[in-house]
Amino acid sequence: MKVFIVHAHPEPKSFNASMTRLAVEVFEGGGHDVVVSDLYAMGWNPVTGPHNFTSRKDPAVFKQQIEEAHAVETNGFSPDVQAEIEKLFWCDALIFQFPLWWFAMPAILKGWVDRVYAFQRVYGGGKWYDHGTMRGKRAMASVTTGGPASMYEETGLAGDMNMLLAPVNQGVFRYVGFDVLPPFVAWSPARSAEADRARMLAAYRERLLAWENTQPITYPPLSAYDP
Ligand code: FAD
Repeated sequence: MKVFIVHAHPEPKSFNASMTRLAVEVFEGGGHDVVVSDLYAMGWNPVTGPHNFTSRKDPAVFKQQIEEAHAVETNGFSPDVQAEIEKLFWCDALIFQFPLWWFAMPAILKGWVDRVYAFQRVYGGGKWYDHGTMRGKRAMASVTTGGPASMYEETGLAGDMNMLLAPVNQGVFRYVGFDVLPPFVAWSPARSAEADRARMLAAYRERLLAWENTQPITYPPLSAYDP
């Protein structure tokens, strides 16, 4: 298996960093190949714009999707975007590792999606959901929180975690055809005792070892969509 981890945390000593290191250890230990994009360490620029391209279809007016379609035809993506697109197509397994920030993924990771998910390459022209470019591959969000699990229940103070993660699971992973594994959530590691953090990492190890046998989330089939 070829595993691609997009890691979004600025601190190498963080719990998120420990989770990514664990994932690398588990998958490499199982004989798999692993590539990590450590976005902060790479100095990833999350701001999308004309700099995504080495040449322009329309230098007068910038429309990202027009330029993306042009870049597909002319091999015209900037080297940073091109490198990430290649990793995405290379992998069979994708993990987004991130802390929940303001009920969402950190801006640096959202900006990775904004720039790397290129029209007519990663999606577009009928390539979406069941017909997506990533069909047959699996993806998972691995998330840490500040709040406890009780806060993120359906009727909890902060609302249902599955709803908060829908933009990642359904909007980013499923949209391009990934089979989406249930998210792994490490609840409130900073407010937990050392032994509880160790238990979270042990549970994460088990989830990773079960990667190929985990039942993906069920989504409506594309065939049922009647606009
Ligand atoms: P860290 O604080 O880095 O780590 C927690 C503890 O684990 C530390 O003591 C660390 O030393 C220890 N640790 C590291 N590695 C190991 C290891 N291998 N074994 C054992 N212990 C280890 N929370 C919410 O719930 N909802 C929000 O909407 C939200 N918004 C936020 C917005 C911002 C901008 C910020 C900064 C925080 C927000 N938070 C929110 C809180 C945030 O989600 C948590 O602080 C974060 O998820 C905790 O993960 P971490 O990796 O940063 O933990």
